[in-house]
Amino acid sequence: MMEKTDIGKEGDAMNYQANSARYESMSYRRSGKSGVLLPAISLGLWKNFGGEVPFEQSRKMVLRAFDLGITHFDLANNYGPPYGSAEETFGHILKKDLLPYRDELLVSTKAGYDMWPGPYGNWGSKKYLIASLDQSLKRMGLDYVDIFYSHRPDPHTPLEETMGALDYAVRSGKALYAGISNYRHEEAKEAISILKRLGTPCLIHQPRYSMIDRWIEDKLLDLLNEEGVGSIAFSPLGRGRLTNKYVQKLEAEESQSSDFRVLSGLSNFAGNRGQTLSQLALSWVLREGGVTSAIIGASHISQIEENVQALSQPPLTTEELTELDSILSHSHIG
Ligand code: NDP
Repeated sequence: MMEKTDIGKEGDAMNYQANSARYESMSYRRSGKSGVLLPAISLGLWKNFGGEVPFEQSRKMVLRAFDLGITHFDLANNYGPPYGSAEETFGHILKKDLLPYRDELLVSTKAGYDMWPGPYGNWGSKKYLIASLDQSLKRMGLDYVDIFYSHRPDPHTPLEETMGALDYAVRSGKALYAGISNYRHEEAKEAISILKRLGTPCLIHQPRYSMIDRWIEDKLLDLLNEEGVGSIAFSPLGRGRLTNKYVQKLEAEESQSSDFRVLSGLSNFAGNRGQTLSQLALSWVLREGGVTSAIIGASHISQIEENVQALSQPPLTTEELTELDSILSHSHIG
């Protein structure tokens, strides 16, 4: 394990120096057929980085992640609470510590869900997406983000308009790459084709994916592979359920549910191969034929450290994957 992040005692203003060994334990994987390499594990700021969390706690997690080689930080306009506050927190961390490392970072943000009142603060219009991106840049104190996503498809806005907004964001220099999130197979296919026609290829798709939520295996993953589009899984730990902590909680409640039987089966399986359940869940989404990167959430530095260790553990064999399929066939957790 690497030395700890050198950020001094709580609250002091000591200058941050990134760990010189930060690129030694992370692996980097190409996003589709692009020039972009993503860390196998990325950090998401959906929860635990908002205005209600002490700044030093968020700061320490982000800096520890960077020291472990996590170069990609995933945000969205409304991450918080309150909305916008995760971007503000990240902006403060950039200003205080990480701006000297800006070119070593891949920062993403999104728009597509509820953000401000009225008809122009939600869904997929060009009006909303571009105004939102401008606000995100201001909150983070950045000139550009690396990836700008349409956070979800909008059934009432022509896809040409939503994709046109992503194309505009890239052409105007506010974003380097375009991405889509939560698009199902048919929607993704059309979005990828429109972006290709516009000359701003889709860099990446961000779907939900974990051992207990495998919907992308039905066509979407194949489409992304065929089109040379990268994939980055959100909620790879099933929002915290694929962890020993959650299994222990069910154990303490003396749960007899089928969820408990599946999760404790997975936990035992992980233990037998020297892993925690969260590490097994990450080995699984990052297996050959899986996704490019997994975006984890975390509330403690120790969780980030534990999760990154999954990358130095042995990959799952074909036999192990078959055994896991059999355990998971009893799962209705989703
Ligand atoms: P996960 O499935 O990784 O769940 C994260 C939670 O799991 C943590 O908050 C923590 O819970 C728990 N956890 C993590 N590691 C450990 C560990 N080693 N041991 C015990 N518990 C652990 O991901 P999220 O659902 O949080 O999503 C991750 C990111 O994905 C988001 O931050 C966001 O960037 C992105 N996302 C994107 C969406 C989209 O629509 N595009 C939607 C949802 C997420 P606890 O806080 O209780 O400790």
